[in-house]
Amino acid sequence: MQLGRTAFEQIGRETGNQMPAALTDTGCERDLNEDRYAVIESSSGVAWIVADGMGGVSGGELAAQLAIDAMRRHLETNQYRDVEIALRAAVLEANRVIVLRRQNPIFSGMGTTVVAAMFQGPQVVVAHAGDSRAYLIRDGMTQHLTLDHTLVQEMVTLGELAVEDALNHPQAHVLTRCLGSEPGLRVDIAKYWIHRDNTTGAGDKLVLMSDGLYSLVTDSELAAIVSDLDPQRACVHLVELAKSRGGFDNITIAVIPVEGVLSEEPAQTGGYRYGVDESEHTNTRGTELRVKRLLALWFVSSIAIAMMTILGFTVFLLS
Ligand code: CA
Repeated sequence: MQLGRTAFEQIGRETGNQMPAALTDTGCERDLNEDRYAVIESSSGVAWIVADGMGGVSGGELAAQLAIDAMRRHLETNQYRDVEIALRAAVLEANRVIVLRRQNPIFSGMGTTVVAAMFQGPQVVVAHAGDSRAYLIRDGMTQHLTLDHTLVQEMVTLGELAVEDALNHPQAHVLTRCLGSEPGLRVDIAKYWIHRDNTTGAGDKLVLMSDGLYSLVTDSELAAIVSDLDPQRACVHLVELAKSRGGFDNITIAVIPVEGVLSEEPAQTGGYRYGVDESEHTNTRGTELRVKRLLALWFVSSIAIAMMTILGFTVFLLS
């Protein structure tokens, strides 16, 4: 699958009446698009990823692509029952690959952010490192699911800077964490459950994005557009809005409808379109169990028949 090399490249997968969508655009001022997005389907779940590379001609594009490729390789070749462990392991593997590549002096300045949402049955895990963000859109309102790993966010947390001044701060984009910066990367992970018996009508939407988008579009604009339009139209509209305001950076967004509402409280399993279908897993495990029982029965029967044959033969010889 080509990943975000051309403007308006889009991905959509069917889910109920809504199609998840993602879009990346070089923006108005940059020559390269160092952002990437991807959807990775694996036996451990389905992961949506947005990565924002840095390093310019010295590896910005490469860093984001390396991260996506490493995560894909890891998830496709390993099977995890725990989606949180799966996503963390994939991000750490991507970090390992980029840290190694940075040992080449040409690429010593490269790195990438990652924000990812991984679906497995009713569970959703959101992981991030850097300043790409995950938002939840519910009933026309935005909720931030991630906290930027930036110098200004630390200042906001310490009460030294107002939230509204953070994006205009001269050091607004100085990261305190990203993939490639150090071998012992700390990855922030949050776990949610999809509750299907909601009474709110429309389900939640998860939005992943790079700073090229949220720097130029307000939370209320994002909430209104994502609530009012289908995901594909919302992606196009939001990217165009950011470009109409300068499009200074690469712009990437993914909008993923959720069949229900996200909660930090556990939900019942079964029947989810995303990720591993629990009932299929149960069936597979049940089949494996039956095969093992049959093999054990065959083995015990063979031993019993052999022993009876030997006993009968011995009795015959003695008689
Ligand atoms: Ca960026």
